Amino acid sequence: MIINSINPYTQAIIAEHEVLTNAQLTQKIERADKAYKSWRTTTFQERANKMKKLANILRAKKEELGFLITSEMGKILSEGIGEVEKSAGNCDFYAENAEKMLKDVYYDTPFKSLSVYDPSGAIFAVMPWNYPFWQVLRYAAPAIMAGNVTLLKHASNVIGCAKAIENAFLEAGFPEGVFQQVTISISQVETIIASDIVSGITLTGSEMAGSSVASLAGKHIKKSVMELGGSDAFIVLDDANIEKAATVATQSRMLNAGQACICAKRFIVTEKVVDEFTSAFARKIAELHQGNPLQNGINMGPLAKLEFAETLSSQLEKSLQQGAKIIVGGERENCNFQPTLIDFVDSSNIAFQEETFGPLATITRAKDEMDAVNIANNHRYGLASAIWTEDREKAYRLARKIEAGNVFVNSLVRSDSRIPFGGIKKSGYGRELSEIGIKEFMNMKSLIIE
Ligand code: NAP
Repeated sequence: MIINSINPYTQAIIAEHEVLTNAQLTQKIERADKAYKSWRTTTFQERANKMKKLANILRAKKEELGFLITSEMGKILSEGIGEVEKSAGNCDFYAENAEKMLKDVYYDTPFKSLSVYDPSGAIFAVMPWNYPFWQVLRYAAPAIMAGNVTLLKHASNVIGCAKAIENAFLEAGFPEGVFQQVTISISQVETIIASDIVSGITLTGSEMAGSSVASLAGKHIKKSVMELGGSDAFIVLDDANIEKAATVATQSRMLNAGQACICAKRFIVTEKVVDEFTSAFARKIAELHQGNPLQNGINMGPLAKLEFAETLSSQLEKSLQQGAKIIVGGERENCNFQPTLIDFVDSSNIAFQEETFGPLATITRAKDEMDAVNIANNHRYGLASAIWTEDREKAYRLARKIEAGNVFVNSLVRSDSRIPFGGIKKSGYGRELSEIGIKEFMNMKSLIIE
């Protein structure tokens, strides 16, 4: 079986990738097993040297790799290059910090007692296409620095990126089998999850994929981390800096052509400022230039696949039938979905209830700050949220009431290697990044010495 990489802007087939046979997959799993036995015995310093080298290789090749990202999934070139740089930064971060994050922890007992963090085996990752380098390096750098090895099943439209990441690991001097990408079909996923060498499963993707893979992880008694969908609220209160909020709102919704789990998707605005905010937001959206993602001056490329653009069009159409009104945008040509803002979206509207994975922003009107928080929480997802107010104490009080894994006040929601990242409700469980992320797939072994 062959999987094609298709450029979403030109629709040209740019590469063909052969799916592994079951026998080839077994060989890869055995290679991971063999690699783990020696990789786990290496020192932090040895691992860090290679991880630093990997970071440097990524930085040296950022233009080439950025071009590959743009060609496979359509984000604008500057965002692709920025993603490679951010991924390199995450490799540096774990190279420099893994050892201190995993130091022994002593307990106050009459005998000697401590926890040590042992590696656990191979981590199997199922990853999405929207940040094809960042999503991979954000789980792989800590896993590998901790002494684990990994098998990656990347999304089928970014296999070229998966292969490029594997090549970068090999070029950095990591032994064969420490990082392997596997081109497989969904039906082969269970073979990997079931294998004894696999100790943990991490999935970033949709709720449906998460539910299926988490069930398999449960069936085979494997720890899992699920980073799933989101419909982040962006709450604008009476005393917000409206101009700044509208600028960041545009960035937060339209970055990556609106295809990020942590894009703001529901803009919940108090009555007093809703008209002012909506008109500033509409003005900034109208200024965006959509087009060829390789060209300078373009802010937004196509959606990554035609089916994604069609789904978004259908959500928009239903939302309008349910009473929403277009303020700006609304047109689509193939994968190119115009940056769009709709108003009068209430909590029964499809664009409120479903995740919209593309450049469609919605305005929902709230009576006051508590109404805004209640509207924000009235959702199946709980990934992240933003609150805009000039009153920091109020911001803290309201942030504590928000049902989400991350809340940002007066700034763009983003992930950061130093800070835990993850969601609640149907946005998943477990955390990536920081010290918490690296510990998710360790054997925290208690040692009691009398
Ligand atoms: P997706 O369709 O769920 O795909 C993600 C990955 O899961 C791909 O590798 C896909 O493989 C695989 N997959 C799909 N169904 C599967 C199944 N039944 N069993 C095993 N693997 C399966 O999601 P997507 O469209 O690529 O990504 C968008 C979604 O990811 C959005 O919901 C977004 O919010 C979420 N996301 C979440 C985060 C976070 O950190 N919380 C970050 C980024 C994205 P194929 O490509 O072969 O189908």
